[in-house]
Amino acid sequence: MPDLSEYYQPQSLTTALELLAKSGGKLRPLAGGTDIVPAMSKGELKADGLVDLSKLPDIQRISVDGNEVKIGSLTTFTQIETSPLIRAKASLLAEAAAAVGSPQIRNLGTIGGNIANASPAADTVTALVTLDAKARLDSLKGSRRVLVSELLCGAGKTNIHPQEIITEINFKIPPPGSKTGFIKLGRRKALAIARMNLAIIFNVKEERISFARVGLGAVGPNPRRYVVLENSLLGQTPSEVLIEKFAIEAECEVTRVLGSRPSAVYKCEAVKGIARDLLTKLFLDSGQGVV
Ligand SMILES: Cc1cc2nc3c(=O)[nH]c(=O)nc-3n(C[C@H](O)[C@H](O)[C@H](O)COP(=O)(O)OP(=O)(O)OC[C@H]3O[C@@H](n4cnc5c(N)ncnc54)[C@H](O)[C@@H]3O)c2cc1C
Repeated sequence: MPDLSEYYQPQSLTTALELLAKSGGKLRPLAGGTDIVPAMSKGELKADGLVDLSKLPDIQRISVDGNEVKIGSLTTFTQIETSPLIRAKASLLAEAAAAVGSPQIRNLGTIGGNIANASPAADTVTALVTLDAKARLDSLKGSRRVLVSELLCGAGKTNIHPQEIITEINFKIPPPGSKTGFIKLGRRKALAIARMNLAIIFNVKEERISFARVGLGAVGPNPRRYVVLENSLLGQTPSEVLIEKFAIEAECEVTRVLGSRPSAVYKCEAVKGIARDLLTKLFLDSGQGVV
């Protein structure tokens, strides 16, 4: 543990928000601690103390409200990975959670922390931006809902104010029958921060793709949707030819984003591989998709 002059474990959201507001940015929220504790121990992040969110009520709940899924921000990767509700309504998110680090990290790390940490490679964030998920942020001044993609503003940077806490993430359930998937390419199978990850949602009507979402992580500073890739699927019939066309489009997009960066050669090649693998799996899957 890092040296701390202050540590609080509030039992209510109001108390947590008061502590953050009074500290003027000197206290930081603590969720699973998998990012912030090592960062403070190494001296990469300075804070006078931590406000531990783990005892706040109702912040680890997964529920459905109409056609929306709601996930408490302190829900761990393991809880998301094993949730029958997430598997039925947005299996790409369960797959993204399952792809994180090791069992220990999945048991501690939270979805809110994954967003707030703003890593370019954050696995669940790629799934969330593909779902057009929103985060609810609470402070003493009230609450606001912001698209996760708009909260992120660069590697390690967010628009979250120091006195705000992400309390919930919500997204619309993809249309019934949609196929969804997530794939990650890591340095090593376990404990890997993804070099690249890809999430896809699509729906087929009368043999043609009528709805498509594509998100890529570890390409730009934050995971985001790639509309060019979505348009390359829309109106098309799933086939081997389409898989190849999509893989080439993905390579072009990654080339365009990375330019002459040293990682470009590897990533341009890698994206074709993960694009082929994921689309082949989804096109061949005869299951019923989102229910
Ligand atoms: C060995 C190892 C392997 C890893 N592998 C992966 C991987 O494969 N994929 C991946 O995506 N990540 C990986 N990570 C990164 C990490 O586990 C995730 O980013 C995790 O989601 C962070 O969540 P946490 O709850 O631990 O956040 P914490 O460490 O508690 O907090 C992280 C940051 O978010 C802020 N914060 C946390 N919760 C909130 C909230 N509700 N509202 C406002 N601010 C908040 C904190 O103040 C802090 O700045 C790995 C980390 C380690 C150490």
